[in-house]
Amino acid sequence: MKSIFAEVYSGLKSLFIGMRITIGEFFKPTITLRYPHQSLKMSPRFRGHIELVRDSATGQPKCFVCKLCEKACPSDCITVEGIKPEGARRKTVTSYRLDFTKCSLCGSCVEACRDGAIRFSREYNLAGTRKEDFIMELFERLEKQGLTAEQSVAAAGSATTPSLPTAELAKPAPPAGTPAPAQPTSAISKPLEPRLEAK
Ligand code: SF4
Ligand code: SF4
Repeated sequence: MKSIFAEVYSGLKSLFIGMRITIGEFFKPTITLRYPHQSLKMSPRFRGHIELVRDSATGQPKCFVCKLCEKACPSDCITVEGIKPEGARRKTVTSYRLDFTKCSLCGSCVEACRDGAIRFSREYNLAGTRKEDFIMELFERLEKQGLTAEQSVAAAGSATTPSLPTAELAKPAPPAGTPAPAQPTSAISKPLEPRLEAK
């Protein structure tokens, strides 16, 4: 008889312990995200593919085509090209090609660039079925990012008009609610909205 009470007591005790943990978790904030509609903000140490950095003063890429990153890359992933405008002291980048299929994210290129003209991106939404999807033109990518930022400024009614390619500026904005046009798979690297802070 005594052992029956002991068993009932033990069962009830474990039940209440389990319920206490369940109820405690029930009232905690949810950490599950509805991927791909929501995505985490990646930590500063996360290494996505490399990307070019703008000079905050001029808005132009910091890269001056010294090619140190190209030489430092052990996998020959990087090809940088540029021109020297007349009267300028430094070269200006015109093409920065990254073959991400060969990149091991070792960081040698980022370390080699003394001017901080490249860094690791936070992109983790990369997907593709073709090798070509991962051959990235980082200069074009930077230009497009600039365009997006400038278009938002224009939409918000800001005063200054950006110096952008005329063809791009002439494009009419799609009406609200229009689904976004299909993009090449390499563009999937853009972060999805809305972003949520990791708790
Ligand atoms: S990214 Fe840096 S290291 Fe590479 S070419 Fe440009 S300035 Fe030179
Ligand atoms: S992270 Fe390493 S492998 Fe990737 S591009 Fe830079 S140097 Fe090359």
